[in-house]
Amino acid sequence: MKEFSDKVIQWYSKNKRALPWRQNPSPYKTWLSEIILQQTRIAQGLGYYTNIINKYETIQDLAAGKESEVLKLWQGLGYYNRARNMHFTARYLVEKNRGHFPNTYEELIKLKGVGRYTAAAIASICFDEPIPVIDGNVYRVISRCFLIDIPIPSNRAYHYFKGRLAELMDARRPGDFNQGVMELGALICIPKNPHCKQCPLRDHCAARRENRIAAYPFKAEKKRRSNRYFNFLLIRCDGELLMLRRNQKDIWAKLYTFPLIECKTPQAKRRLKEALQVEDIQLLGKTLHALTHQNLHIKFWSIDPGPTTYKRLQTHFGATSIPARETGTYAVPKPVENFLNQVFSTNFCTFDRKAST
Ligand code: SF4
Repeated sequence: MKEFSDKVIQWYSKNKRALPWRQNPSPYKTWLSEIILQQTRIAQGLGYYTNIINKYETIQDLAAGKESEVLKLWQGLGYYNRARNMHFTARYLVEKNRGHFPNTYEELIKLKGVGRYTAAAIASICFDEPIPVIDGNVYRVISRCFLIDIPIPSNRAYHYFKGRLAELMDARRPGDFNQGVMELGALICIPKNPHCKQCPLRDHCAARRENRIAAYPFKAEKKRRSNRYFNFLLIRCDGELLMLRRNQKDIWAKLYTFPLIECKTPQAKRRLKEALQVEDIQLLGKTLHALTHQNLHIKFWSIDPGPTTYKRLQTHFGATSIPARETGTYAVPKPVENFLNQVFSTNFCTFDRKAST
């Protein structure tokens, strides 16, 4: 056991990537990075981390920031509840605990938005608590080394791997051990064609010995994604367009989008025209946006009504009329951002002129 842990820690100390949250780690930096990196690759999350830490150097700065500004910085990263919970927790800790994080796993996991992964990471990296951190990389390395046939992800697998890792871990350096296993999974024991020759665990690895690497980690069958059909409506009049803030009970809560008609099947232009009682409606573009459990089939429609119909539709959707040029200042979901970038960056003047006439 000790040899396993020593090899991981030695390899990690020589090969770890120089990531900003690893330099002079603090609970605030570790927490921020772990929240950002949930469901996000490091290459994508790095820029977001830098932007957030530059704007909010301390947890007090973050707590003092507006939620809308935090969401704007988070734009494009997805899973926006992470940002909302992060902001809530910053305020909570500043108000209730003078900005200090609790120093045990048991207390950390009580914080909003902090799950067992993030709590274990902060507890082990910042407070030396010997508690294993388990993510997809860890599942892969450990299941290959020990040929573990429990399907992941599952609660049963989590508890089994946690016990196994607790036995393997050097309790004096839990943070380095945890980060070492994760880093090995990210750089060496990658899903396809792992770099076994460079792996410090090659002598411990049963999957390599038995030539069964591709069979691990043992995965539970994936759930099928459901399909949703979104029709976003760019309703424009006199240089303004309608936008609204989404409610809390669905994806993209509190972000801004155009008025939306969601349907169970792809919707024909004629049906939308009838439903909205407008004279004309034009398809501007379409895209497929895949979330973890949903495929969103999105169409963007343009409607240019006169002032009376514009007002009627504004009331109907409970939307806000905003100057078209200001759309970039609102936090919007990724597919809407992509659409705005594509259409308005190239045709903004045309769009604006058209909308003004
Ligand atoms: S020897 Fe290969 S399969 Fe085994 S842990 Fe190392 S990289 Fe992964």
